[in-house]
Amino acid sequence: MGKMKKSHNIIDSIGNTPLIRLQNVTKGIKARVFVKPEYLNPGGSVKDRMALQIINDAEEKGSLKKGMTIIESTGSGNTGIGLAMIAAVKGYKTIFTMPDKNSLEKINILKAYGAEVIVCPTNVPPDDPKSYYKVAERLAREIPGAFFTGQYHNPSNPKAHYLSTGPEIWKQTKGKIDYFFAGMGTGGTISGTGKFLKEKGSTTVVGVDPHGSIYTDYFREKKIIDAAKTYLIEGIGEDFIPQTIDFSFIDDVVQVSDKEAYLMARRLGREEGILVGSSSGAAVAGALKYLHLKKVTRDIIVVILLPDSGRSYLSKIFNDEWMQQQGFLVSDNYDKTSVLQV
Ligand code: PMP
Repeated sequence: MGKMKKSHNIIDSIGNTPLIRLQNVTKGIKARVFVKPEYLNPGGSVKDRMALQIINDAEEKGSLKKGMTIIESTGSGNTGIGLAMIAAVKGYKTIFTMPDKNSLEKINILKAYGAEVIVCPTNVPPDDPKSYYKVAERLAREIPGAFFTGQYHNPSNPKAHYLSTGPEIWKQTKGKIDYFFAGMGTGGTISGTGKFLKEKGSTTVVGVDPHGSIYTDYFREKKIIDAAKTYLIEGIGEDFIPQTIDFSFIDDVVQVSDKEAYLMARRLGREEGILVGSSSGAAVAGALKYLHLKKVTRDIIVVILLPDSGRSYLSKIFNDEWMQQQGFLVSDNYDKTSVLQV
């Protein structure tokens, strides 16, 4: 056995996730396709990286001090989990606002880390005072000693990926990465990682966007064409353009439907042993569709970022009844549950 690697606390185990080569869902695609399973971070998602960067940078600047309350609007809950986990170790109080489309599991995880959670309606525009963005902003103004992390405008968000995700991928592929695929929520992951990869080499960076999000139109036409429409994929796509996305590091965008994303998430569990959420399903479905159209060759190295774990979606993606209600599953042969009769 080698030397034992010790962590001072849970924060030390953020980052350094592996690259795993896909074996089965990539049939018919010549490229070597790897995924980076960010669910292996201790808080269970890619957002641990930026939560840590935001807190460290704010402490360094003196804008976050002992006794203060961290406030954030957390679209899919993962940012909240990262912040709540780090806050638990460092002794900060946390309050989060979330849209009501999130699974109950995500709300309860935040509470398990000691956070207070305020659930807001999904179907209101982002500038509505009831939206989860606006409620968080209001609380940050009203609560004394509040620190608003502001993941949609805080430069520490993309910086986290410029300093960690990008260099890790570069090292893991020995600088040979040709394509990088990631979903776009705040855009922190794709912009920070993309910036690093583009400074180092000539990686093509492709954003994955759900049908209904405004990003694809904005990328192609440089303006918002239609208001966002509701979709089910959690954590990616936006109804406004945050300051944390930088399209100069994004070469192309591929759109995916809810059905494509959800079915791919199920396939990744069953065929690859990789249990992930809907934005990961979307990233893989989008990447494979894109690579198929591009007719890539054998030597190409592709990395797809998988933001979070399927465990937060057991009542949706991995619930056959729910999948059938959405019209994503037609067969009723999916339920392999058996109960031992005694
Ligand atoms: N997937 C999930 C599940 C997420 O929580 C997020 C963060 N909103 C993303 C993807 C997108 O990451 P980013 O905000 O860095 O674009």
